[in-house]
Amino acid sequence: MAGSFDVVVIGGGPGGYAAAIRCAQKKASVALVEKGDMGGTCLNSGCIPSKALLGSAHFLTLARHANLMGLEIGGVKPNWAKMQSRKDAIVMGFRKGVTGLVQSNKIKLFEGTGVVAAPGKVRVESQSGALEIAAKSIVLATGSVPIEIPAFAFDRRTIISSAEALSLAAIPESMVIIGGGVIGCEMACIYATVGCKVTIIEALDSLLPNEDAWVGKLIAKELKKLGIQSMVGQKVTAVDVAGGRAKVLLESATVLEAEKVLVAVGRRAVCDKETVDALGLEMNGPAIAVNEKMETNAPGVYAIGDCVGTTYLAHGAFMEAEIAAANACGEDEKMGEYNLVPRAVYTFPEVASVGASEKKCAEMGIETCVGIANFRSNGRSVAHNEGIGEVRVIRNTADDKIMGVTMVGATVTEMIAAARALIGSTEKITDVSFAHPTVSEVLKEAWEDAFGISLHIPPRHS
Ligand SMILES: Cc1cc2nc3c(=O)[nH]c(=O)nc-3n(C[C@H](O)[C@H](O)[C@H](O)COP(=O)(O)OP(=O)(O)OC[C@H]3O[C@@H](n4cnc5c(N)ncnc54)[C@H](O)[C@@H]3O)c2cc1C
Repeated sequence: MAGSFDVVVIGGGPGGYAAAIRCAQKKASVALVEKGDMGGTCLNSGCIPSKALLGSAHFLTLARHANLMGLEIGGVKPNWAKMQSRKDAIVMGFRKGVTGLVQSNKIKLFEGTGVVAAPGKVRVESQSGALEIAAKSIVLATGSVPIEIPAFAFDRRTIISSAEALSLAAIPESMVIIGGGVIGCEMACIYATVGCKVTIIEALDSLLPNEDAWVGKLIAKELKKLGIQSMVGQKVTAVDVAGGRAKVLLESATVLEAEKVLVAVGRRAVCDKETVDALGLEMNGPAIAVNEKMETNAPGVYAIGDCVGTTYLAHGAFMEAEIAAANACGEDEKMGEYNLVPRAVYTFPEVASVGASEKKCAEMGIETCVGIANFRSNGRSVAHNEGIGEVRVIRNTADDKIMGVTMVGATVTEMIAAARALIGSTEKITDVSFAHPTVSEVLKEAWEDAFGISLHIPPRHS
């Protein structure tokens, strides 16, 4: 036996490293097993590299609009190789940072594939052989993979996943993106901004179909300004690749040609079969079934993050890590409401939401009053040439409870935490001071409008 620990965590992504650090802070002896790069999908092929490229693309857009701000600057153009190396340097820096954090918390790091061979026993397999460690508690945080469609499986050159899309050697002349969800729309913004002709195909009726329909419509309109064509309510039936180019066939018999086809139709939870079998884990399809304490059906075994298929978000994994770590260390914690985990999309403009949508409220039979305020009436937004979009705050008319907030606009991903905190607060909105002039005043206006008391919006609710 190569060691015995209070807690062994398998997977070093946001779920796994957060659980490991919290357990260590609670004075448990902790081991973390990671088979790839520390930081998982989020840091290496997800949140951070995508935002690094979006950051460059955003800068490019601002520079192109310099004349609107009264500035004259020469021609600006992307240098893709430098954008890539900047992104790689950012990832590398954070990877070192996370590894250092884990080590400074005295967590024993094992490099290799962790498999639960039997309850309380984890086998770590690596090129240098296999070793076994003992665990009082185990936290499974093994993540997810991109969903592959068998009819047009990834060849990783022409038909690619988000992982390849983040590291293409050159800007393709054209790209068809199958899937108009979060990843598809963010990738579209990156590639369209640097000069690629992008078409998004979405099977449902609007882009970002998990949000209310107005969001998808507004985003499609704004993406069009970047040159992105959105085809909604359309299904892809086949992709033929020949000579390094793809022909994408739609159900409507339309054929699109492109240099790259990015399949971005969601992610699928993963966990090694041997672990599932050894522990007799109950599953929800590919995801590990857990209760609100993040416990699996196997005693002392917890599962968190993408492998439980709840949010498929890094901050969802962070929240679940808090719960699993507390319970693995003898506390008694339960996961809060999942719909209060904010959702953020880093498109141009951004989208952010928390709580229930208008559609969801209608489905639940809840009568609502929706407060709406827009960015074109906000001083700071107009000063920054960022007047696109609006904030909607949904009030339950029966008990005045705020059911949800949805925002489209510049920097709304930074404001959604304030909306989340306000939902949980007992303070009256009129007692909360928002600095003036700030973009976040739009949130206050919309919130007040939901109660018919906005200072800067004429009365319009009966
Ligand atoms: C392009 C893209 C953009 C994204 N953008 C965002 C965003 O902006 N915001 C957001 O919240 N989320 C975003 N996500 C989602 C986010 O990356 C995931 O929700 C998050 O990484 C999940 O964390 P996790 O710890 O559950 O799993 P992961 O991050 O996938 O980590 C799992 C880790 O476990 C390791 N592992 C698996 N099996 C084993 C084993 N048997 N032994 C040892 N190690 C193992 C893997 O190597 C991996 O490092 C994005 C995803 C993608 C693909």
